[in-house]
Amino acid sequence: MANPERPEVLAYVALGANLGAAQATVLAAMQSVAALPQTRFIASSSLYRTAPLDAAGPDFINAVVAVSTRLSAPELLLHLQRLEIGAGRERPYRNAPRTLDLDILLYGDASITSPTLQVPHPRMWQRAFVLVPLAEIAPAKVSSPQLQAVASQEIERLV
Ligand code: AMP
Repeated sequence: MANPERPEVLAYVALGANLGAAQATVLAAMQSVAALPQTRFIASSSLYRTAPLDAAGPDFINAVVAVSTRLSAPELLLHLQRLEIGAGRERPYRNAPRTLDLDILLYGDASITSPTLQVPHPRMWQRAFVLVPLAEIAPAKVSSPQLQAVASQEIERLV
């Protein structure tokens, strides 16, 4: 169970969807993440459209949300997985199209390596669809060279 004495931690969660009403799914998921127990909303990025990278299907809608939470990282992951399942996510095969994908990018300054959870997310530095929205709401977390490294990946900010 969540520990009310645990200090708040600033966590960044990446959202992605490429099936169904992807924009509506991501917007609703942002609200759901912000409404998790012992969690409060800090910031959300714009929505972005990106071509699938190592994945199948239509374009993705991506975003990043920042929350301050007293949930532990494993508790946060369990909540995110519950939200994914609630959005109708199935995992027929690796990198299959998904109605909703939620990843913990950063959990404070924590460095976590467990069988079920790696933080910082190990692939975040290779992905424009993560770094660009993250840089929008947390510019200090992403350096110019890191953004340059993914500059060849097409990403469109939706207005
Ligand atoms: P995916 O299919 O990309 O959603 O990967 C989900 C799997 O990645 C889950 O089984 C998680 O346990 C694992 N995982 C490892 N690190 C993370 C992370 N930082 N955020 C979300 N899932 C993670």
